[in-house]
Amino acid sequence: MSESETENRIPPKKARSRSRMSIDDKTNKTLKDLDVKTPEAIGELFAELSLALDSERQHLIGEGASDDHERAQKVKALRDRWLARKGGQVSLIDENWLKKAPKELKPTVGRAFNQLRQQSASVETEQLLQDVPIRGSATAHPETTKAEFGVGRPSVDITLPGYRRPLGSIHPVTRVMREIEDIFLGLGFSIESGPEVESVYYSFDALNIPESHPARDEWDTLYVNSETVLRPHTSPVQIRAMKKHGAPLYILCPGKAYRHDNPDSTHATMFHQVEGLAVDTDITFADLKGTLEYFAKKFFGDKIKTNFSPSFFPFTEPSGELVISCVFCGGEGCRVCKESGWVEVMGCGMVHPEVLRHGGIDPERYSGWAFGLGVERFAMMKYDINDIQLFHQGDVRFLEQF
Ligand SMILES: [Zn+2]
Repeated sequence: MSESETENRIPPKKARSRSRMSIDDKTNKTLKDLDVKTPEAIGELFAELSLALDSERQHLIGEGASDDHERAQKVKALRDRWLARKGGQVSLIDENWLKKAPKELKPTVGRAFNQLRQQSASVETEQLLQDVPIRGSATAHPETTKAEFGVGRPSVDITLPGYRRPLGSIHPVTRVMREIEDIFLGLGFSIESGPEVESVYYSFDALNIPESHPARDEWDTLYVNSETVLRPHTSPVQIRAMKKHGAPLYILCPGKAYRHDNPDSTHATMFHQVEGLAVDTDITFADLKGTLEYFAKKFFGDKIKTNFSPSFFPFTEPSGELVISCVFCGGEGCRVCKESGWVEVMGCGMVHPEVLRHGGIDPERYSGWAFGLGVERFAMMKYDINDIQLFHQGDVRFLEQF
């Protein structure tokens, strides 16, 4: 603190004396002299004393001392001011107010006096020596010291526990998505993303689903206008990536997809997908099988068995589904796998030549495979969750388990 600041600062006691009678002036007079005649007025008087006691104590604590000697002196001065047997404020109040109080006010004054006397224990020598810090020493934290000296705020009790901020956690869908991404990143794939509000062309036509195709109905989605939809799958990203990068191409497309499904325990109008695409020369169905088997074992564990069953998608030919041995019963048969011991986990297949063409890639030279999976479904299998709605409700009791 600079010299000028010290001069400008007016101690609370002096500031009061300028506008009205000081504490000392009052405690040297009787209640009668002070014209205090009612319990309310007594209450106010003692409240003023209580405030003065506390503010003088806080002021000393805020100011601190430069060394042990100065601290001892300052502590003694404040202690004596309030507690000295002769001339201390508490003694004066006892002498001038309590003992000389009119009979009818004595109980009120007595009660208030007792309270003040209890409070005055805070300026006992022992207590103050503990509370008043020595500047620059370990007892006063250097950083808090600077702010608190001068403004006279109470010192911070660093032994008290701090405010605890609740820790967040990663959403299970994000967690599973990242896990899937990590496996494919390890295989040399890169991540691609695209718009969720997508053209009808990229969402259907470029994927070999013309308007007349019956499969279009299955994916028919939420239209923004006649040419724009909320994408029903992340497949448009594959077309965009083929156009942008050409071949060879090894990409993963994670993101949101939208359907007109009615919400139930396995369907939601919005969910997350991860699609993969590999385009290169000499890519065969064997590459697809090998890659997906590796991925499934990495994700679900080495014990699971994989199998492929034929399927149909307009954008792949041939098309298949990856089935794995049921993660719940280990293949024995249960409610989840409908007693078959197998569950279908994703669709896949060799990219349809027409789709490659839409992506600007020559199907005579290149071939490719693709797959698509639902992230919520994977998370449900991984964490044994039976309702897809739980992922999207934002209930902390559910989310904090991950
Ligand atoms: Zn099962």
